[in-house]
Amino acid sequence: MSSLHYWNYPTEIFCGPGALDALAERCKLHGMSNPLLVTDPGMLALEPMVLIKAHLQQADIKFAVFSEIASNPSLDDVARGVAAFKAGQHDSLIALGGGSAMDAAKGISMAAVDAQGVEQYEWSSVIAHFPSLADFPHLNLPRLIALPTTAGTGSELGREAVLTDSEQNIKRVISHPELLPASVILDPVLTRGLPPALTAATGMDALTHHIEAFCSPLYHPMSSGVAVEGIRLIQQHLCNAHRDGDDMVAREGMLVASAMAAVAFQKGLGGVHALAHPLGARYHKHHGLLNAILLPYVLVANRETISTDIARLARYLELKQPDFDGFLNWVLELRQRLGIAHTLRDIGLDAEEAAWVGEQALADISSSDTNARVLSAADYSQIFRNAVYGVLSGVKP
Ligand SMILES: [Zn+2]
Repeated sequence: MSSLHYWNYPTEIFCGPGALDALAERCKLHGMSNPLLVTDPGMLALEPMVLIKAHLQQADIKFAVFSEIASNPSLDDVARGVAAFKAGQHDSLIALGGGSAMDAAKGISMAAVDAQGVEQYEWSSVIAHFPSLADFPHLNLPRLIALPTTAGTGSELGREAVLTDSEQNIKRVISHPELLPASVILDPVLTRGLPPALTAATGMDALTHHIEAFCSPLYHPMSSGVAVEGIRLIQQHLCNAHRDGDDMVAREGMLVASAMAAVAFQKGLGGVHALAHPLGARYHKHHGLLNAILLPYVLVANRETISTDIARLARYLELKQPDFDGFLNWVLELRQRLGIAHTLRDIGLDAEEAAWVGEQALADISSSDTNARVLSAADYSQIFRNAVYGVLSGVKP
């Protein structure tokens, strides 16, 4: 690693320290003459923003910055972004940041062209009306270049966006093939400033994507293969990136693993995300942190169905104890080394809303169709209670 790579699967990807240098040329090749640069407010004064601005200005590319987005971008944020996009007569988008910037940019892209798009392409509607890529109408959405500054969501390689509906306190997942960015720039220099706690939480989000995709019952061996190697990259790099933010090899490894996860989870996600989505919408906790805490409890709930596959994975990871318990203990130890809480109670949640959480988890896109086994609302409520109180039955945490 640590030289420049060009890949074109599933879209074009520039990877390595200095990959950012490809940005201006890609803008020109994609016909992006006046992009709206979407980022979160915390990014405005940071190094990645300074680098990108300088890069675009040097290349004489006109642009404006839109940063009025929350850490879980809402439909209101998207509406403000659409207004900025139209007022500035922008023709394209650049997303700089973590999942929130990516998702907001995708939401703006969709809503700028189709005011009803967020409803029309919400996942439940997509399943009913657009069962294959060819079923989607061509929308001619604005071109989007994605530059992640975190290694976690993988949104830069996804055709989906997760947006919060603040009125109903739920997350809406929209999906359209044209939401896949035209170019992705994975430059580890852009993730250098990510603090250790966020490196940990986002890295555990990427790990959860791979594990849930790997355990999904859908038949998709290509994605399974990506998941297995993605988990190995996280095993190799996450603790190093957490310990030393300037370790460019570790930062690059995590960026690649995170991006790969979006390819892996074409196979679907599972119970961890089904629970984390409503919890994130209601309690405004970091998505990756919620996943990191929930992951072992969902693994235990799925144990019977996944233990053979997990044992195979544990052998690939060369764990000392290559079975389900060995893998679970590896996850628990990794979490501990990253300073992540063991229970939801540790981050201020209680079990009062367990029934609501169960119903919402069941209704989530990541629920029982792709979770390793069918879970009921009552099962989800129980897993949630277990995660609040730290009950990992049958194993020692
Ligand atoms: Zn996630």
